[in-house]
Amino acid sequence: MTDDYTDYEVDFFQAVDRNTTAEQSIFDALMSIRDDQYYTLFEIEAEHTCGWARVQVFPERAGTLYRCMKCGMAGIIGG
Ligand SMILES: [Zn+2]
Repeated sequence: MTDDYTDYEVDFFQAVDRNTTAEQSIFDALMSIRDDQYYTLFEIEAEHTCGWARVQVFPERAGTLYRCMKCGMAGIIGG
């Protein structure tokens, strides 16, 4: 980050970075799943924005739905 950004902007970009890192962590944890785990709901361990947490995932071919069991955040990671 450079001084060209205001605190308001830095806060925004850091939040995006944290979320992107967390989604990458979830994505990495799904690299080795079996075919029969698609379209089923199960839990993995991943480093979320709130720290290491159990995360519910529902992998679909087009993306992965997830919900953090610790902070409750849910979303979709595009495939
Ligand atoms: Zn979380």
